[in-house]
This record gives sequence, structure tokens and C-alpha cells, in this order.
Amino acid sequence: MLNIVLFGPPGAGKGTQSSKLIVKYNLVHLSTGDIFRANIKGETELGVLAKSYMDKGQLVPDEVTISMLQSEVLKTPNAKGFIFDGFPRTHAQAEALDKFLYSISTEISLMLALEVEEDELRKRLLLRGKDSGRADDVNPEIIQKRIDVYNAETFPVKDFYQAQNKYKGVNGVGEVDAIFHSLCEEIEVAIG
Ligand code: ADP
Repeated sequence: MLNIVLFGPPGAGKGTQSSKLIVKYNLVHLSTGDIFRANIKGETELGVLAKSYMDKGQLVPDEVTISMLQSEVLKTPNAKGFIFDGFPRTHAQAEALDKFLYSISTEISLMLALEVEEDELRKRLLLRGKDSGRADDVNPEIIQKRIDVYNAETFPVKDFYQAQNKYKGVNGVGEVDAIFHSLCEEIEVAIG
């Protein structure tokens, strides 16, 4: 299997690149943010809970996010691999993901990180907020909160994968296709 963690701050372009990568490598895209938003739309119990955190720019609690992610993976037992987008976002999620994948006889192949500096992120998120309808993209304070949470809790997850020699950083600024090309190059190296 080819299991990729697509990593990077809010607004780095994970969703955009995921949609291209899944086509090229025949992977299943699992975006925890998208799954939470679908639950909010469907007014499920999970959606109501997730919304109370997301609207404030906070992380949804680990237990909730981890069990949701696991059940999503189990929905496609014949997948050739997954792109995890927006997960893991904490050290506990990374540990849980490793254990879970081991229990189903697979593992993370690599973490691909989209590197984008903060000023650019703020610009992109405000722009996206104009037509995405995402409540968390409209308010500059919520955007800043998400960036702060990223720096404090999510950025360190890089070390977890670096320690396993699985971390690859790619410049996330430039043409979408050029960034996609850089990501593919790293994947080709990893799969040999
Ligand atoms: P972005 O990366 O632009 O912030 P996402 O769609 O990935 O957007 O996430 C939106 C929100 O969903 C996050 O701010 C957080 O509240 C929640 N969320 C998504 N993934 C996770 C996760 N792995 N753990 C906890 N909360 C999450």
C-alpha cells in the first residue's frame, strides 16, 4: 500500500494537491476536516460536537477524531492506499495512526509536507473565506488561532515522522502543477 500523510499548515494547499494525487496514484482521500464538515451538514451528533470546536479554531478532541478516522479507513478494505489530509494533527493522533495501521498490516509510507510561510497562509485563507462558506475562514482571529494551534500542536508531529526517516518537505508556494510535480518526485523516490 501507499499511505501518505499530507502535512502542512491551514491553507497550505493540502486539499488541492490531494485531489490530484488520488487520481495519479489511485488512492483514497481522507480529509478529517471534510468528514467533519459533512457531519455538520448532515446534522449528526459528531457534527454538532465537531462544530463547537471548529468554529473556534480549536482541534476536535483526539479520541473522537481517532475513532472517526479508523472507521473511515475500515470502510474501504480494498484500497490501494490512503492520503491522510489534516490527520494526524497531534502527537497522540500520530501514535494512534501507527498502531492502527500496524493492526491492519500496513504503515505510513511517507509524510509529504507543504511548506508555506504564515503571511501567505493568512492571505490564502481570507481569500478562500470569501466564497468557501467556511465559517473558520472568515474571521482573522479564528484564522490566527488555527495557525497558532498548528504551530503549537501539529508542527511537532513532523519530528515523529522525521525520526522514522519518512519526512519530506516540499515548497508549497508557486504554480499548483509545479508543486504537484515536486510531490510526485518525492513519491517516486519513496516507492522506488
Ligand atoms: P485547515 O487545514 O484549513 O484548518 P481542515 O479542513 O483540515 O482545514 O480542518 C478544519 C478544522 O477541523 C480544524 O481547525 C479542526 O477544528 C478540525 N479538525 C480537522 N482535522 C482534525 C484533527 N486531525 N484533529 C482535530 N481536529 C481536526
